[in-house]
Amino acid sequence: MIPILDSKRQYATIGNDIEKAVCEVLRSGSYILGPNVKALETELAEYIGIEHAVSLNSGTDALHIALRALDIGPGDEVITTAFTFVATAEAIGIVGAKPVFVDIDEKTFNIDPKKIEAAITPKTKAIIPVHLYGQPCDMDAIMDIARRYELLVIEDCCQAIGATYKGKMVGTFGEFGCFSFYPTKNLGGMGDGGLLVTKSENLKNRAIAIRNHGGAIRYHHDEIGVNSRLDEIQAAILRVKLPYINEWNKKRRENAYYYNGLFAKCPDIITPAELNDTYSVYHQYTVKIPNRDEIHKMLQESGIGAMLYYPIPLHLQKVHNYLGYQKGSLPITEHNTEVVISLPMFPELTREEQQTVANTLIECVEKSKTIA
Ligand SMILES: *Cc1c(COP(=O)(O)O)cnc(C)c1O
Repeated sequence: MIPILDSKRQYATIGNDIEKAVCEVLRSGSYILGPNVKALETELAEYIGIEHAVSLNSGTDALHIALRALDIGPGDEVITTAFTFVATAEAIGIVGAKPVFVDIDEKTFNIDPKKIEAAITPKTKAIIPVHLYGQPCDMDAIMDIARRYELLVIEDCCQAIGATYKGKMVGTFGEFGCFSFYPTKNLGGMGDGGLLVTKSENLKNRAIAIRNHGGAIRYHHDEIGVNSRLDEIQAAILRVKLPYINEWNKKRRENAYYYNGLFAKCPDIITPAELNDTYSVYHQYTVKIPNRDEIHKMLQESGIGAMLYYPIPLHLQKVHNYLGYQKGSLPITEHNTEVVISLPMFPELTREEQQTVANTLIECVEKSKTIA
């Protein structure tokens, strides 16, 4: 059995330090907005190379608080991708704005900047590019459109902490960068967690107020807020893990290139492409294959933990029926949902396991051809 992700292997290497850090919090009596949260925010801002970081309850909250802080709401349209986790579009719905889905680039799985302009209307306020699977979007092209049409940019970096585009970290291009510390993410906590980063002092203050019931000063409430604080225990855990993130991302990349080599002899398996001058952090290693659903079943039966991210595009989800999208409206997105499969990917994955994954997948692809 080779799992898609094995968090226990990581824990085996740093568990002692995590247990020590958690016990210190338990003994300290300070559980909310204490010293670990403050220190983590400083350390993450420094790591990402940006002025301000505000920690939150989840990546979903980061996205919707970013929209709120930018005064985006009913009557506004926000352009994004339909090939992502539902939270990206859900955040737009939470603030009462309308998601407008643009098709993706076939190679990178990310929003296709060439298709953004056609989706802009007088109601468009913002673009949310998603750095899917850890692969940076084409940020020059997206920022150029944003400047020309005076649109705000919120980057969904939930799968991409540490990824860079032309030497700059994702999350530092737009008004806000949104991150998630969900346990399976490249920097994962042991529960929920999220982060907003911004260059703007005003936007930082607005986000700080919204996360804590709409007021920066206790018992003074200026607007409707939420309760979305990262707790001290999670912050303490993330502070133990943060120093390892570059090493872990590097190992993911090495694993990805090793897979690429193993699949080179099998032209039916299309391996992930990277844009020039980007550093992808391979949150997922996702290939395109023929007869995907059949092969997915065969892999499961062989004990290979392969997953489908994502089997239904967001524009065709029931929750978005009201938007009126039809099948066929985003052809590349729809095609991708039928052919992608994500393979085991984590820093501690061994070469032997990768060989087993690759040999099994190649066998399954061959077998599926004889059946088909
Ligand atoms: C995980 C994820 C989110 C949501 O993060 P949570 O912390 O689970 O709320 C949003 N967008 C993308 C692309 C994600 O992968």
